Amino acid sequence: MKRIYLDHAATTPLDPSVLEAMQPWLSAVGNPSSGHQEGRRAKEAIDIAREIVAESLDCLFGEVCFVSSGTEAANLALLGSALGTTSSRRKILVGASEHHCVLHVAPLLERLGFEVVEIPCDREARISAESLVELLDDETLLVAVMHANNELGTLNDVSSLAGLAHQAGAAFFCDAVQTVGQIPVTMSGMDYFSFSAHKFNGPKGIGALCVQAGAPMEAVIRGGGQEREVRAGTENVAGIVGLGEALRIAGLEMEERQTRKAAARAAFVDKLKTDLPEARFSTSELPELKGHIHLRIPGIRAENMLIALDRAGISASSGAACSSGSIEPSHVLLACGYSQSEAEEGLRFTFGHENTPAEGILAAQTLVREARRILGTL
Ligand code: PLP
Repeated sequence: MKRIYLDHAATTPLDPSVLEAMQPWLSAVGNPSSGHQEGRRAKEAIDIAREIVAESLDCLFGEVCFVSSGTEAANLALLGSALGTTSSRRKILVGASEHHCVLHVAPLLERLGFEVVEIPCDREARISAESLVELLDDETLLVAVMHANNELGTLNDVSSLAGLAHQAGAAFFCDAVQTVGQIPVTMSGMDYFSFSAHKFNGPKGIGALCVQAGAPMEAVIRGGGQEREVRAGTENVAGIVGLGEALRIAGLEMEERQTRKAAARAAFVDKLKTDLPEARFSTSELPELKGHIHLRIPGIRAENMLIALDRAGISASSGAACSSGSIEPSHVLLACGYSQSEAEEGLRFTFGHENTPAEGILAAQTLVREARRILGTL
């Protein structure tokens, strides 16, 4: 059975050209901090990737800090800015629909003496200007709002939200893990900006935090002076090279990839609308991210549906955390105002550019068949 992978928001396949670019650096000996030839070559490879990031995201070469993941980047943005500030402001606002890599840092920030307040989101996980303005005050140090929500695929107007934060004298952190490499996006107007290579056909275990020149930042991981003293530790040279190459290719192929994803998703959605009218889509329009579609089938827990789909050859997700083998209700859906049992029904299908409309149709047919079987209405 040929499997159909529809979980690209979780991770994407490594592009063969990216692997090819990484290969020499998996075995090259040089430590980028060493002054000899081997070391200097490794440093040059990192700097080429840094140049690609700076050019793609419209930031300065020196503002790019490579880290191990989108999760580490968000942790560093929050903790590093809080520890590095000279301001007496002590309030940090975070979107209620943020990824756990932001929300789960709150207890640490609170231990450091900061107050963390969640900004409510709407039914589609978006943060409105009004809800931000209601909470912003002259005590607010930092606002963290993600660019696209990883579960629903909806976008926040982060440029406007960052503008509002700045007007109130606060800094702005944008988790752009779901948008960098997917849609045109720049760091312009953001103080802290994070992304992760494995979401755009790069390797896992490498990401970056861009820190605007002059923005407060204290290293959390300490040791040598790597990454301009923001993040110590010998660099993952092969990973960084892979990130750069993946971002370069994503920029070149962005339009074509978007078109292909959108076509596969449209085939899936159209078939589902006709054959399973019970399905409840979580957004009134198709989500802005072209590969995403999120829905519920009332009466079917996501856990049961995902097991059935997996057995039938379809990889999808609930978008929510999986702990000790059972899926917890999505904190995003709870924040959107869904009940506990509704939040346990959320299904996320995320298409990639390698998916075809035929796969979209087949996935929808499988979903309908399994739903009818579980509901007993076959
Ligand atoms: N932020 C968002 C919005 C995500 O979707 C993810 C991953 O799913 C992350 C952060 C974490 O990125 P990483 O897997 O590189 O730690």
